[in-house]
Amino acid sequence: MTALSRRTLLAASAATAAAGVLPVLGSAPAGAAAPVSGKQGPGYYRFKIGDYEVTAVNDGTWYRALDDKFVRNAPLPEVQKALTDVFLPTDKLPIPFTALIVNTGSKLIALDTGTGGQLASMAPQSGTFAANLAAAGIDPKTVDTIVISHFHPDHINGIKTKDNALFFPNAEINVPAPEWTFWMDDANMGKAPEAAKPTFMNARRIFADIAKDVKRFEPGKEVAPGIMSVAAAGHTPGHTAFTVNSGNRSMFYIADTTNNPYLFVRNPDWQAIFDMDGGMAAENRKRVLDRAAADKTLLHGYHFPFPSSGYVTRTAKGYDLVPVMWAPM
Ligand SMILES: [Zn+2]
Repeated sequence: MTALSRRTLLAASAATAAAGVLPVLGSAPAGAAAPVSGKQGPGYYRFKIGDYEVTAVNDGTWYRALDDKFVRNAPLPEVQKALTDVFLPTDKLPIPFTALIVNTGSKLIALDTGTGGQLASMAPQSGTFAANLAAAGIDPKTVDTIVISHFHPDHINGIKTKDNALFFPNAEINVPAPEWTFWMDDANMGKAPEAAKPTFMNARRIFADIAKDVKRFEPGKEVAPGIMSVAAAGHTPGHTAFTVNSGNRSMFYIADTTNNPYLFVRNPDWQAIFDMDGGMAAENRKRVLDRAAADKTLLHGYHFPFPSSGYVTRTAKGYDLVPVMWAPM
């Protein structure tokens, strides 16, 4: 109490209280307006799964205009109501991107790689993966293995930098064999709808010059120490999920088995515009959510709200997400 005597302060407090204004004790008078930041803090979050340390690394958010085609088999007002129920906007749906880095103690494994900053024209608030990885203290040169869930650009583009260099220069790249077979097939590209052709072209841009070094695995196999692949097709023909297992604990990385949980976990029969085979995607979604609810497994969804993990419980018409609120370290 230097500049103001206690008596002066109390008098001032009484005056401001009388005027209905709460005094802010102990704060210096503001000298100038602070510039707004417009940025979030570092987006990474850690979990301990047995002896493994898992780091969720955020790659920003895509704000996608919500139209009546986003959910193929539900009326737009029902979709809007599902969003207002959880205080989300109804004009633009926030779709965050969050990949995982698993440290087994001897290996660093990336489960998906983010957008590589290459979707900025569509999603200007994406492309934060590299900065968040650095904030988490992880050097991409130390990553041993990349494991890919499917070939959509928000999952594979981070294999490369904007200049076509390998972002993880020392990592072995593992992809689901059925995903490779589908997207690298020229006949499939030839008969695909126009809107899907850029995805085929993008897969070639990422993989063509490194094809001989890309390992292809059959879903169901162990792809890295303690990491099992689980077939979960429908979103794409070879879409694959992964369990991370250490000691008696596990975590289930379900990738894009469900997009926004307040739409598709609560209404597992709803089909997102991104699901190539909507019926198969819904069947696999229900199988995965059913298993997770029964086993009380920690789930990580690539497009869930950061840190993108939680548990699911059964409800009358589907499931509900209980976002992770605390992770033992
Ligand atoms: Zn995705």
